[in-house]
Amino acid sequence: MLRCPKCRSKEIYPVAGGYAGWLYRCKKCGYQGALVLEYDEKESGDERRW
Ligand SMILES: [Zn+2]
Repeated sequence: MLRCPKCRSKEIYPVAGGYAGWLYRCKKCGYQGALVLEYDEKESGDERRW
């Protein structure tokens, strides 16, 4: 499960694979970048930060 690092929305999805890797975009706040938060579904209460 991926989450936006800015607004923590789950509405984030990959848009393109470029030279630097995958780019993600957040539907909610418009964030775009390669950095996203990754969650394990079973540990939904825990936040893991990069
Ligand atoms: Zn966002």
